[in-house]
Amino acid sequence: MEKMRQSQFFMPTLKEAPSDAVAESHKLMLRGGYIRQVTAGVYSYLPLGYRVLRKAEKIMEEEMEKINVPEMIMPHFLPATMWQESGRYKKYGDEMFKLKDRHGRESLLGPTHEETFTEIIAKNLKSYKQMPIALYQIQTKFRDENRPRFGLLRGREFVMLDAYSFAATREQLDQQFEDEARAFKAIFDRCGVKVHPVIADSGTMGGKNSTEFQAPAAIGEDIIATNQSGTYAANLEMAKSIDTFKQEPEALKELTKVATPNCDSIEKLSEFLKVPATRIVKSILFIADDKKVLVLIRGDKQINEVKLGHVLDADEVREATPEELLEITGSAKGGVGPIDAKYADKIIADETVKDLYNVVVGANETDFQFTNANLDRDFKVDEFADLRTANEGEPDPVDHEPLKFTTSIEVGHIFKLGTYYTETMGADFLDNNGKAQPVIMGSYGIGVTRMLSAVVEQHLTNNGIQWPKEIAPFSIHLIQMKMNDEDQTKLAESIEHALSPIYDILYDDRKERPGVKFNDADLVGAPVRITVGRKAAENIVEVKRAGDDKSTEIPVSQLVNFVT
Ligand code: ATP
Ligand code: MG
Ligand code: MG
Ligand code: MG
Repeated sequence: MEKMRQSQFFMPTLKEAPSDAVAESHKLMLRGGYIRQVTAGVYSYLPLGYRVLRKAEKIMEEEMEKINVPEMIMPHFLPATMWQESGRYKKYGDEMFKLKDRHGRESLLGPTHEETFTEIIAKNLKSYKQMPIALYQIQTKFRDENRPRFGLLRGREFVMLDAYSFAATREQLDQQFEDEARAFKAIFDRCGVKVHPVIADSGTMGGKNSTEFQAPAAIGEDIIATNQSGTYAANLEMAKSIDTFKQEPEALKELTKVATPNCDSIEKLSEFLKVPATRIVKSILFIADDKKVLVLIRGDKQINEVKLGHVLDADEVREATPEELLEITGSAKGGVGPIDAKYADKIIADETVKDLYNVVVGANETDFQFTNANLDRDFKVDEFADLRTANEGEPDPVDHEPLKFTTSIEVGHIFKLGTYYTETMGADFLDNNGKAQPVIMGSYGIGVTRMLSAVVEQHLTNNGIQWPKEIAPFSIHLIQMKMNDEDQTKLAESIEHALSPIYDILYDDRKERPGVKFNDADLVGAPVRITVGRKAAENIVEVKRAGDDKSTEIPVSQLVNFVT
């Protein structure tokens, strides 16, 4: 355990947060001297912020160890080549920080590490006997976000825990996914973040099956739908598309069969599907075995500008640039992109219309590429107000309880990736019949620094933060009211001496007014605050614990029992 004297601690607190800070967590972290911005979306972690970060990382290390996943570290600086192999060098888009070395070789700063891990596995894993196996790292990631904001919530440089699993069978993958989900829940629990796991879109990660961990908070950029008893939680997009289709599978079956050439308006499609127009929100691009592509565009305000159920040839799609494709489908806001030719061929060969139907209703798991309309990229959250209101109180598809919508923060995201990366990058293993098979992969990410903001958002007090026990920068904040009072100094030092072997203690030994000390203590947010003041000569101190309304006077002899 550690002790720290506040007179020597670097904690530059501010009375007021800078006016451009909007999120409460951002304001408090600036005011409390946890972080400072260096440039847009890039922060320094000052001693207080770094202590919290390290504690969160430590918890993550412990929980990963419990599921037998070893830690390692990959470089931040990566060659473009492996991303070209996977097809993501282009697909990832403007969020990737690209650079060239002096020889003109293209490189990048890793925004995520599927390719890097797949390559290591491709070169070093040979047999089913070496599987299942998983690896993880806690590492800085780089994403050139269009709008970095809200402090650590959306950075351009941020810390992520990213784990990758490698399996020989689907059953092994399922088990690994379950283990990681359990470890993630334990991590969020210990860090004091309340989360809902929700079915989610997979974005540029690929794969079909993914779960987000969403932490409800006022500042959240996502919207989730939950029911009262917690048996149902989904993000808005999925709540409005996949689950709708689950409720009305017949309609979708019809759709995939007929491919709806005549449905060129939302009204016609809605009539055809027998689904209310407001419910058609999913943008799906897929290729059926008749080499047709069906494009549905989300149903909301944009819908009238958009042609629906447009049918294209696979070749048309493969050769089209994203811009052309947007033109063909008429979607002004994106959400549709060409599919990698190699991959499209596979889909055509493997998928029947029935499989497609299964994929969309989630009954069957395949590696399947579909575009994801993206809520926060395509729309401002406010534009969804009417969509939300329209569905507030509607029955959820599981227990038919009334749905409730809340803003929330995506703190984690786990994916069953399947064989997309391992096939494109040639990561094979020999199965027990000596036959080469592509490794089956999963990936699992927590935004560590984003999660810290989520913790603060969920633990605001009137004047500061109330940190959950396990990640508080200090467990005990010892405050001496008057530094020139000898009784107080003697008592405070003896308390520091007695408790520091067991607890992290910050001892406020500054020659400051009590008001200044208490304001700062609200920003440190320690679970236990011990004040040494007027009754020091009688060996009496005041103690305030997390959740206490007011402090209690106790004799020092009872202190250990009281704070434990
Ligand atoms: P978002 O939808 O918020 O942009 P994402 O879906 O792009 O996030 P993933 O690719 O799923 O993010 O990455 C895994 C995790 O990394 C996310 O769940 C989130 O917690 C975190 N994360 C992603 N982008 C950022 C960022 N710019 N700043 C901080 N954390 C981030
Ligand atoms: Mg993103
Ligand atoms: Mg996301
Ligand atoms: Mg995500």
